[in-house]
Order: sequence, then structure tokens, then C-alpha cells
Amino acid sequence: IDEIRGNFARSVKNCIFSQSIPTPLKGPLRLAAASKDVIEGILDLDEAVTQSDDFLHYASGGRLPSGSVPLAHRYGGHQFGFWAGQLGDGRAHSLGQYTNRKGEVWELQLKGSGKTPYSRSGDGRAVIRSSVREFLCSEAMHFLGVPTSRAASLIVSDEPVIRDKFYNGNVNVERGAVVLRLAKSWFRIGSLEILSQSGEMDLLRKLLNFVIDEHFSSINSDEPDKYLAFYSTVVNETAHLIAQWMSVGFAHGVCNTDNFSLLSITIDYGPFGFMESYNPSFVPNTSDDEGRYSVGAQADVGLFNLEKLSLALGPVLSKQQQNAAKMILNGYARIYQMRIHQLFKAKLGLLGEEEDDGYLIAFLLKMMEDTRSDFTMTFRQLSEVSAQQLHNRNFTQMWALEDLSSHKLFSDWLSIYLLRLSRQLHDRDVDRQHRMKNVNPRYVLRNWMAESAIRKAEMNDFSEVELLHHILSFPFVTQETAEEAGYAARPPQWAQRLKVSCSS
Ligand code: AMP
Ligand code: MG
Ligand code: MG
Repeated sequence: IDEIRGNFARSVKNCIFSQSIPTPLKGPLRLAAASKDVIEGILDLDEAVTQSDDFLHYASGGRLPSGSVPLAHRYGGHQFGFWAGQLGDGRAHSLGQYTNRKGEVWELQLKGSGKTPYSRSGDGRAVIRSSVREFLCSEAMHFLGVPTSRAASLIVSDEPVIRDKFYNGNVNVERGAVVLRLAKSWFRIGSLEILSQSGEMDLLRKLLNFVIDEHFSSINSDEPDKYLAFYSTVVNETAHLIAQWMSVGFAHGVCNTDNFSLLSITIDYGPFGFMESYNPSFVPNTSDDEGRYSVGAQADVGLFNLEKLSLALGPVLSKQQQNAAKMILNGYARIYQMRIHQLFKAKLGLLGEEEDDGYLIAFLLKMMEDTRSDFTMTFRQLSEVSAQQLHNRNFTQMWALEDLSSHKLFSDWLSIYLLRLSRQLHDRDVDRQHRMKNVNPRYVLRNWMAESAIRKAEMNDFSEVELLHHILSFPFVTQETAEEAGYAARPPQWAQRLKVSCSS
């Protein structure tokens, strides 16, 4: 069947996409989750349509929207530092672009929809576990204000999918699921790399021109330095994106060049993790033995990936432009530092700029590291506490601040911070709290929360997926249901034993 569909794995040359027909999931199909925000706000549909039988088929690859020519995108990438050749899309089908009422153009993609020419030895499927994680986290990131792909729906099936869950030799039979996901563009650094590496220069130019025309409206297509301008924008925006990841404690987990978007949005959610105890060496992915993609390494990894992008652009740049690209890349660290500084200043409610602000931030982070304070809740509780309470060190119920204040230098830091706040003359304490609560989430998708929802989803109980989806759509607002579920409480003991691998 796959031969007839053209979906057999092979090495492909001279193209950007291959036509590839999704392989329908074996039923019964169930709707595990749908995002009203995406269904109504992006796809112009009524949420009620997701309850129909038709929707189950359209959103899992069994039926195609009229006019759709499903495509698998050919890309390569550097994986864990090394060029890995042709990689994808091994299990994603692009259904086409949709221009919505607002005039926005979105590319719809199914993930887990069966084999393509790029599946290599894979089965083209995605399991419930990883699909729940992608659905929930991409939506959660959007509501945290971090640029990301979106998810419209999650359909689960009874189709058995074999996975080696924890890389310990045990084979697990799980079930297949499909996420209908959306992005303005799914092109990655690896999309350009494969063309460059294979010497397909006409296609490289064609793809670059397309991406620039469609997505970089400020760049004039007649401009002789347009590829350089494109590079400069990607360098800038990638620095901004990684700074935003850091500001919410997000570790992507697999920062290979094929998972780095040319639009600098977060894509391809796999073994990601939100850091709990503050620790720059936090590695969310147990398959990442060397900790190459630890949370604190992401800024450097961004630099590595952007250098690979400049190499991919090499053939379309003059010698002079290649040198200019190097200069642009040299500016990356400064852009990143500037952005991080702004974001963390906002997390502390600081207005204006004072000489010692960087010290104040670094001092706090060092204490958090020493005391293993919870990253999310430390900043959140600093937002919720009044200056008076802080001064009195009155931290009842504030478990993260209790942890932090056990540091022997806490009083020193506190005096500097309170003095700094007191110099913000026209800033009332309630205004500071309000500002801080709008940038410091109370709820993020901790692994244990996702895991608990997954265990139920695997038994066809999707209530917790729905609950989390709802709560994480308002991460800055205290919600009763979230409090009851313990989502802002100290993580349970069993959370520490959780592991997430590349298997998905
Ligand atoms: P990742 O490291 O998860 O971003 O995946 C790298 C490439 O492997 C992507 O192109 C995926 O589409 C592909 N891939 C991952 N899992 C599978 C699978 N089960 N079957 C086919 N291709 C896969
Ligand atoms: Mg990927
Ligand atoms: Mg993946």
C-alpha cells in the first residue's frame, strides 16, 4: 500500500516537498482535545464541528479537505552536533495553507499521520503520550507569550504502535495519535541545509526567495543584500526566542538544526521540560547523555545552529556578504544578553535602568541555584508578595520563597532589592505586583502534570488533558481548579522520578 501511495522510505533529490498520502489511523477514533482558540480564532470554524465524525477523519488523515495535496517536506539537519543528512518529514503531512478571515496564512499539518518518503526506519506514527505533550505544551507556550506553533486538535486511536519507552530494552505497545498542528511556516534551518549540502543551488535560492517573500515583508525582494537581511532577522529573532524560553524556564530538549524554525518560533515538541528547581544544567531529555541541550546551554546552541544556517547560505552569498554574516553572528550574544536582561528585569518588576540591575538578577539566580528554589514559583511569589511582607520576611504559604530565604545571603539581596524598588518613585507596590504577575506565570506544564493527564488519556479519560489545557490558557491568573489540583504547590515526590526520552 505504501508503495502505491509513494510513501516508501528513500533518498530523495531535487525537491522541497514530496506528495505523500496520510495513512488513516485504525479506529475507533476519539477526540482527546481541541483548542477553541485555534478552531475559532484561526480556522474560522465553530467549535461544535470538532464533535462530528467528519472532524475525526479530517483531523487524523482519513479524509482530505477538498483541494488539499498532502505533502511531506524534505529537510535535513545537524543532530547533536553532526550532519545527519535527510531526516524529514518522517511522520508529518502538510495539508496546505489556509488564509483566514483576518487575512493570516497558516500551514496545516498532521503529525503522526503515517509513513512518507522521509520516514527512514520509522513507522510514521506518534504515540498518545508525546501527542498529548505537543498539544498541551504548544498551546501553553502561546498563552505564555512565547512564539510557537499551535495545535488545533488531538485525535487518539486504537492502532497499536510499538515503542521502546525508556530505552531500557523493554518494548512497549502504545497507541497512535495525530495532532493537527499549525504554523505560519514549518520551514527549518535544516530545510535550507539539505539543499545547500546537496548542491541544489537553484532550489536553495527558490526556497529562500519564497520564505522571504511570504514571511519577511520588511525585506525588499530586489534588494542585493536580501539574504543577508534575512539572516540578520533570523539571528535577532532566534536570540529573542531563546531568551523567552529562559524567562519561563523552558528547555526544548532537542535543539537540532532541523528543530529550529526559520521564523524563530518554537516547533517540534518532544522531550521538552520546564525547569523546576533552578538549575542551568537541567536536561529534560534522558537520551541526551552529555547534556548538550541543557536549559542553560540553549543560548550557545542557538549560536551553533545559526552558524550552520550561515554555512547553508554560503553558496548564495558573495565573499563580502559571508564576512558580513560573520559580523552579524558576532552580534548574537549581545542581542541575547540584552533581551535576557530586559525579560528578567521585568520578572523582578524593575523599571528604568540602574547600574547594578544585572548584579541583582545574577545574585538572585545564584541563590535560587544554591537553595534549589522552584524557578516558576519563586518569581511568581515575588510578584504576589507585598513589599511590606517581603521586608518582614512573612512567607507563610509561600513555599518557594521559604526555600529561597534559607540562603545565608538572602537578607543582603533583599535589602538591595527593596531599596531598588523604593527608588521607583511613582510606582505603587500594587502596580509592581500587577506588572510582575503578568510576566511570571503561576502555572506551567510541569512533567508530572503532563504525565498525570497522559495516564488518564491512555485509558480514554481526557478530563485532565482538558483541565490542563484550560488552566494553561490563563497561566497568569490564579484559578481555583488549578489550586485544588495542586498545580502551584510543591511538586509531588513521584515527580522527581519521572523521565522523558526521545522516544515518541
Ligand atoms: P525529531 O528529532 O523528533 O525532531 O525527529 C527527527 C526526524 O525524524 C523528523 O523528521 C521526524 O519526522 C522523524 N521521525 C521521528 N519519529 C518518527 C517515526 N516514528 N516515524 C518516522 N519518522 C519519524
Ligand atoms: Mg523534529
Ligand atoms: Mg519530534
